[in-house]
Amino acid sequence: MVKVMDGRSTPSPVETATQKRAYRLCQNCVMDTSDSNIVFDSRGWCDYCNNYYSNILPNWHPDERGDAEIRSIADRIRFEGRGRDHDCIIGVSGGVDSSYVTYVAAAKLGLRPLVFHVDAGWNSQQAVNNIERLIDGLRLDLHTEVVDWSEMQDLQRAFFLAQVPHIDTPQDHAFFAALYNFAAKHRFKYVLTGANYSTECVREPLEWHYHASDLRQLMDIHRRFGKVPLRTFPLAGIFRFKVYYRLVKGIRVVKPLNYIPFFKEAAMQELADRFSWQKYAHKHYESRFTRFYEGYWLPMKFGYDKRRAHFSSLILTKQMTRSDALDRLSRPAFDEETIEHDLEYVANKLDFTVTELKQIMAGQNKSYHDYRNSKTLIDFGTKALRASGVQRAIIR
Ligand SMILES: [Zn+2]
Repeated sequence: MVKVMDGRSTPSPVETATQKRAYRLCQNCVMDTSDSNIVFDSRGWCDYCNNYYSNILPNWHPDERGDAEIRSIADRIRFEGRGRDHDCIIGVSGGVDSSYVTYVAAAKLGLRPLVFHVDAGWNSQQAVNNIERLIDGLRLDLHTEVVDWSEMQDLQRAFFLAQVPHIDTPQDHAFFAALYNFAAKHRFKYVLTGANYSTECVREPLEWHYHASDLRQLMDIHRRFGKVPLRTFPLAGIFRFKVYYRLVKGIRVVKPLNYIPFFKEAAMQELADRFSWQKYAHKHYESRFTRFYEGYWLPMKFGYDKRRAHFSSLILTKQMTRSDALDRLSRPAFDEETIEHDLEYVANKLDFTVTELKQIMAGQNKSYHDYRNSKTLIDFGTKALRASGVQRAIIR
């Protein structure tokens, strides 16, 4: 059965204490009370919108000023990387943001990145093709780290059994941890990422998408529901890569897409024209698992539609109209046939029967609060980063 996500009514099939407030939709973007902590002003505009106009936009300069800044950063990266095979490292998934930043770094900024990819067992053929085309076209080196499947599968099963929204944590954690562990080990000073305000200025609230880097939560969920010891799985707590790697190892994170004009459609077209790179129907659908998670698990089980945050970002940055977004949201991300097919694929791959997976879907929803976590400490770190201007998006 497919529940239609309506832009104007509460879609959640599950009511939690925090979701009992009256339904409201922001009058400027499409975020709504499915984020239980959303706040509206007297105009009916939400706090993501207000944060964007007062905090992000005045500090974001994708123009001549940004261009001069990123060129000067690139000069420093080249200088510090002289004598090395590569002067920086970029983690790529095959999606548009990481592909485009790779292209910008190599072709426009004259950098010599090592392209780093983590194969966690869920790559779509399209993503693999896209990475290969990009690497060949730019003549870059690719390092692929393959995660042990029995450990990956066990950790993913544990997150499903834990009934939390953030079942993409094992995949996300592996990507980040493998990249930063590798960068530290091989003395890379610069990690370039595709993170950007243009498509991500509205971040999903933590209740939808908890920190994948909270190692304490990952280990607690694995301890309760896992069976296979994590011997080789890439692990790194948030403090290791936010504090130790940055302060002690001196790794700096650069987000080039915030310094230049970056428009999703135009970027995909540029990649398609130059590298025969293939477009995706939705952001983050480069992995079949991500498609299941965003198109099925989150909306059907929890009433969280990640498209809301993504479309809201595109509305604020003038890449989509609000009425187009509401129209898209009024229809599910997937047709019933694709969903059934994905459900069966995910069940088989994770060694659940389809019935077992459907029972899990129907089980009691949990949140990150229900398991050990380091949220208080992470909040403290986020406040410090916001105060210093490093982090400007709302994270709650
Ligand atoms: Zn808003």
